[in-house]
Amino acid sequence: MTTFSDLELASCLQQALEREGYSKPTPIQTKAIPPAIAGRDILGIAQTGTGKTAAFALPILHRLVTNRCALPRKGTRVLVLSPTRELASQIAASFTTYSGNVNIRIATVFGGVGYDAQIKQLARGVEVLVATPGRLIDHLTSGAIKLDQTDILVIDEADQMLDLGFVKPIRSIVSRLPRDRQTLFFSATMPASIAELARDFLREPKRVSVAPVSSTAQRVSQRILHVESDRKRAALKKLIHDHNMQRTLVFTRTKRGANRVAQYLEGAGITAAAIHGNKSQNQRERALEAFKDAKVQVLVATDIAARGIDIDGVSHVINYELPEVPEAYVHRIGRTARAGASGSAFSLCDRSELKYLRGIEKLIRIEIPSEVSDIAAEPRSQSKGNASKARIPKPSQPKQRENDAPRRKRPQKSGDESNHRTGEGTSRRPGAKTTKPAHKKRKRYHASHKKRSAVA
Ligand code: AMP
Repeated sequence: MTTFSDLELASCLQQALEREGYSKPTPIQTKAIPPAIAGRDILGIAQTGTGKTAAFALPILHRLVTNRCALPRKGTRVLVLSPTRELASQIAASFTTYSGNVNIRIATVFGGVGYDAQIKQLARGVEVLVATPGRLIDHLTSGAIKLDQTDILVIDEADQMLDLGFVKPIRSIVSRLPRDRQTLFFSATMPASIAELARDFLREPKRVSVAPVSSTAQRVSQRILHVESDRKRAALKKLIHDHNMQRTLVFTRTKRGANRVAQYLEGAGITAAAIHGNKSQNQRERALEAFKDAKVQVLVATDIAARGIDIDGVSHVINYELPEVPEAYVHRIGRTARAGASGSAFSLCDRSELKYLRGIEKLIRIEIPSEVSDIAAEPRSQSKGNASKARIPKPSQPKQRENDAPRRKRPQKSGDESNHRTGEGTSRRPGAKTTKPAHKKRKRYHASHKKRSAVA
């Protein structure tokens, strides 16, 4: 069994880990720490919950504490790029925790808060800067920070950076760092586009991996519940009740959807809070605290807001809507079953989302057990005397996007999407009337007319 002292970490770091109650390194830490201490580039394939933050933070801190030098003015010795504010805060907090009694200057830079305090901090120079790409580019453009003295770069959750459209900003940031640097690159999944990015940024990296490429968190039991879109709320409420779910994360695709679901749950007597990009940093932090302290039972989140949420004891994840991007599913369900615990993920899937389900199952190479939600069998409360009307949801509102994310191409509208709008399947109901386009009617008319003339 490998111990932290086998990894030859500086003793002050080992003491801090002991205080944290970490008795032994996790597999990703055992594999990544020695080559990282030796100065090698790392290509780490590890999901959230595997201890990957410490896998890069510990060797970096080891190098900083064993080689103290003057702070670079308006610069940083180490740059960590994170896709979201929450994750950036958590990474910075981990660096602080692991550095124990040694005073390491750590700063964070992300959107949603003022510039001035960040500029002030950067002016004196820092040892570790944890940043989201958008705000860092702002500071680079204004000259508040330079990266020419940065000798260690970390890119965390690279696949999420890609999903959020951050590839261009990241390339621009990396081009400002010295070529002669150490790069630690972590991603939960390794699609071709991420592999290409890694090839461009890393030099003869040591590849360390603790889960097969694109595999989903192994300890999470998963289930799909097929349900029509207008029965999802009722299905969600029932699911939470039936399984007596306590600390539950519910994912929606849009910010508006997150608000609506949280309001509905509150109305149904289930304490809930919403967290998304339209909420201020304060509101987000308050909602997270309330969830951590078990003051609210359910946290309803969008993908971006939920990135990096590190809360022990999330027992259930519910996908109220399936994500369009299959990799996001892996990230979402990885929010439960952290730090060795087991967890369950339920996904409510309506007909319009079957295409997303196919994409997810292809990525994780697992056919997720599925059943028809028993809510489907119950009478619709709002449908008395008007069943057909109840089956047709209101046309969906334009989707809101998260603040931090650059605009991404919308997926092309497909037959399934129009399905989503009407709530009806593509297959024709028996006896339903079809309306042929006028040109087809004309063609048929001409054909039959020709036939009749030939007979005559
Ligand atoms: P991460 O994958 O970095 O998000 O870490 C997931 C969780 O595991 C965090 O709550 C860490 O505090 C915890 N953790 C990291 N390394 C260890 C370790 N060696 N022993 C116990 N817990 C750990």
